Amino acid sequence: MFDLQDWINYQPGSQIVVPEASIAVPVERQPPDLGWTCIDVEDLGADGSDYIPGVCEKCGNDVLRFLHTLEHPDWPEQMVVGCICASRMCEGYDGRGRETELKNLAIRRSRWLTRNWRESRKGNEFLNLKGYNLGVFPDSRHPGKWNWWIIKGNYKRYGDGPYPSSDYAKMRLFDYLTKPASTPSA
Ligand SMILES: [Zn+2]
Repeated sequence: MFDLQDWINYQPGSQIVVPEASIAVPVERQPPDLGWTCIDVEDLGADGSDYIPGVCEKCGNDVLRFLHTLEHPDWPEQMVVGCICASRMCEGYDGRGRETELKNLAIRRSRWLTRNWRESRKGNEFLNLKGYNLGVFPDSRHPGKWNWWIIKGNYKRYGDGPYPSSDYAKMRLFDYLTKPASTPSA
């Protein structure tokens, strides 16, 4: 740091020395190789449409469909990597198995709208699935909009609609059913 006294005592022609520490370049740290935990996997192809492939921040592989997000207790930032790097950096993590699960989920998602939806007496489309009664209905408070329901015994839940169409409400219902820690499974 500059010494204030140097400035107070400054005389034209005298020299102020800048201490070396203030101009030193900080040493660049490298992220650790091991000890990471995978906290999320994203399937860029989940909805079946074209997608821009992801890039692995570790090895540069740039044709990724699945992005594994990793955290490390000694590193301030998350890293987004491919399956092979994720499995190596997170000891015991089965990246390939997780991708297979998500691929199967994407296939089930693509077939969700063409399942055998039936029509209730009120005219709403529904499915009975693993003891649950699921369906979509026009939202009376928002004309032209839709929402979904899940009922099993005393358990009853509605979606966070309104949604713009019945198909959209059905897809949101699927996502609710298949998100981790949700009750029934589609
Ligand atoms: Zn990689």
